[in-house]
Amino acid sequence: MAQAQFDSAALKIGLHSGISSVLRWPLREFRFQIPVRMDDGSMRVFFGYRVQHNDARGPAKGGIRFHPGETLDTIRALAMWMTWKCAVADIPLGGGKGGVAVDPATLSTGEQERLCRGWIDQIWKNIGPRLDVPAPDVGTSPKMMGWMMDEYTKLVGAYTPGVITGKPVGAGGSLGRTEATGFGAVYVLRETLRHLKLDPLKLTASIQGFGNVAQYAAIGFVEQLGGRVVAVSCWHRNDATSYTFLKKGGVDPRFLQTITDVYGTVDKKKAASAGYTVEDSESWLSQEVDILIPSAIEGQVTGETVSSVSPRVRIVAEGANGPTTPEADKVLEEHGVFVIPDFLCNAGGVTVSYFEGVQNDMNYYWSHDEVLTRLDEKMTVAFKAVLDESVKKGVSMRDAAYMVAIDRVVNAMEFRGWL
Ligand code: NAD
Repeated sequence: MAQAQFDSAALKIGLHSGISSVLRWPLREFRFQIPVRMDDGSMRVFFGYRVQHNDARGPAKGGIRFHPGETLDTIRALAMWMTWKCAVADIPLGGGKGGVAVDPATLSTGEQERLCRGWIDQIWKNIGPRLDVPAPDVGTSPKMMGWMMDEYTKLVGAYTPGVITGKPVGAGGSLGRTEATGFGAVYVLRETLRHLKLDPLKLTASIQGFGNVAQYAAIGFVEQLGGRVVAVSCWHRNDATSYTFLKKGGVDPRFLQTITDVYGTVDKKKAASAGYTVEDSESWLSQEVDILIPSAIEGQVTGETVSSVSPRVRIVAEGANGPTTPEADKVLEEHGVFVIPDFLCNAGGVTVSYFEGVQNDMNYYWSHDEVLTRLDEKMTVAFKAVLDESVKKGVSMRDAAYMVAIDRVVNAMEFRGWL
């Protein structure tokens, strides 16, 4: 999928085939064994990965996933998307991604710590503040980033917080990182409404997910723009199904946060007793609203499900990575829906990660307000660059985002004499 999207954009901008063949594949890939002493005394070998797709614009940047289905191939695709995300946000970083094929929930805290330290022990020579800067992702947490930073610091013999981002606040982390992705999506949504001359006070939204991204997208939409969120949804592990939580007058995201666990699962009973309607379906998608904000997982608006999107929907703001398939994208475009593409819409997270690295370098930390003001500025400028390209070239926002990103990466490669 990552290569197909890239090929399509490369064709549209007439990218030289030699340059395309460089960018279709990562520059470097690492696969390594991580032997871990388990609590019962046995030794278990895990497989770890790190892929650096491109570092022409600066050190590679991207998360580390701990997921049982992790493969080198998924990490390659995710690393490539990071290159475009950093370029479109215009932060001086490249694209990378890493992982371990493991379900972290099956490990004790001690085993998790030994796995995290083991990952660093195997790759520390190939990462660093000027080389490649990992971060948390699916299955990894700020606490794990703290262990990894500590292991790296011990190996190089110097306190090096900038080797990794997403660290806990007080241990080199940045204020504002928690809200960054959701608020970043709201900043670009605000610019979209200005462009389309829509009054947010009259608008409603439906959101898929109620995890980190969705919670702050909901809070930002309600508190900063004055809009109404009428539905949020989430996945319930125990029932292996998803539920949609609705309230006609609008949900209260701050209240919902108080009845949501760390996995983004809203308590059904507590929601019902607070007057919420709970539907055991994917009804978030068919709500008669002006804006859809898919912020859960990939592949949700598909060739099949797109028919249930209400004709009233004017905007899809992709908080999640890859929530809309190419078939659905086509249908939305035909219906004149304005899609804010994922790697622009959710770039707020990596932007504040970049700010974290900057603060680590200075050893001076910004206030919460300063971080969010700078984030707003970055997201607004990124949105305008993509919108200008889209208008100038007469292409969708997704194609325009690819064009802006590829152009910036190719320019850096040219400046450095790689081409
Ligand atoms: P999260 O784990 O905090 O939350 C995920 C939410 O999605 C949960 O509420 C979960 O219940 C819900 N969910 C999962 N499957 C669902 C389904 N089938 N139907 C309805 N809800 C479902 O994750 P997150 O950090 O909020 O990330 C969400 C998406 O945003 C992912 O695609 C992620 O890659 C992307 N993203 C996250 C960040 C970030 O900073 N957190 C940055 C960029 C992109």
